[in-house]
Amino acid sequence: MKEYAKVLEEVDAECRRVCNRCGKEIVNETLNFDMITEVKVVFGWGSNKDGQRWDFDLCDDCLDDMASGFMFPPTVSRYM
Ligand SMILES: [Zn+2]
Repeated sequence: MKEYAKVLEEVDAECRRVCNRCGKEIVNETLNFDMITEVKVVFGWGSNKDGQRWDFDLCDDCLDDMASGFMFPPTVSRYM
């Protein structure tokens, strides 16, 4: 037989997110960081960055600015 007791556990909670490009930061006590997007890039075989993974965060303005430099715009679709 097992008995359980309620315990308080200390966890790391995100409290701030910073745009890697411009330094804009979101400090949000409601933990709503949707204005800064997590970007993960995994480089494949043959790339001069093969085996690397880049993780960074970009605010909406920096994402728009980056995409505006594309010759072909990103494909946009809805999820959810
Ligand atoms: Zn930014």
